[in-house]
Amino acid sequence: MRIEVVTLFPELFDVPLRTSVIGRALERGLVEVAVHDLREHGLGRHRSVDDYPYGGGAGMVLRPEPLFAAIEPLREAGAHVILLDPAGERLTDAMARELAGQPRLALVCGRYEGFDERARGLVDREVSIGDYVLTGGELPALVLIDAVARLVPGVIEAESHESDSFAGGLLEHPQYTRPESFRGTDVPPVLLSGNHAEVARWRRRESLRRTLQRRPDLVERASLSEEDRRIVVELRDELADGAGDEDSALD
Ligand code: SAM
Repeated sequence: MRIEVVTLFPELFDVPLRTSVIGRALERGLVEVAVHDLREHGLGRHRSVDDYPYGGGAGMVLRPEPLFAAIEPLREAGAHVILLDPAGERLTDAMARELAGQPRLALVCGRYEGFDERARGLVDREVSIGDYVLTGGELPALVLIDAVARLVPGVIEAESHESDSFAGGLLEHPQYTRPESFRGTDVPPVLLSGNHAEVARWRRRESLRRTLQRRPDLVERASLSEEDRRIVVELRDELADGAGDEDSALD
């Protein structure tokens, strides 16, 4: 997979793309990232990329000419072009999985008050990372790169991301490591039992419990087995009785 980024601040990508899982993926050539400086397409002696908004108001707007000059060659080379924008479609695990199947992505980062409206006509998709506004599209682009790159085959074990939150429509079950007992709280005995079937049953139940407690909307949309549905009914009763708080898993 090749990811192109168009930004006014290429230096913001240096450390995140050199670090940990994503750094190793780039080093191993599983993912390639090329960062392009929008300023190279700036206008005039000062390589200007922005101007005042027509109609007045605060802030500056990115002009269409530099954006078109930067984006058109990437489009022509076959990239799926994404504008990072608070008005875009919300980034989800499902979207990240879909994008991980694209051989070539181009991510366009805004700054200031954002893009001249005409730039929207040049992109395949607009993506938001959530209902809040950041100063620029670089952190959203890095979030998207991280979410997508970890799903590229070979970057991490498939078993790991397939059991992560959202992958199967639910939140992940609680996780424990050593020590067995810490400040009065013990690891649930089933996890020490060595009985894989029992561990799997416990994890599924706790995943359903956590999702019901924190994200009941996901439970409504998840594809659940008969057994899951039976557990959900039990858990709802427990929660209604006030006996189902998360710590009960530790009892
Ligand atoms: N005036 C714009 C608005 O109200 O929608 C906000 C512009 S913001 C200060 C500058 C740039 O940051 C945007 O063009 C976009 O690229 C990026 N950005 C900010 N928040 C974002 C978010 N939640 N998701 C994706 N990109 C975002």
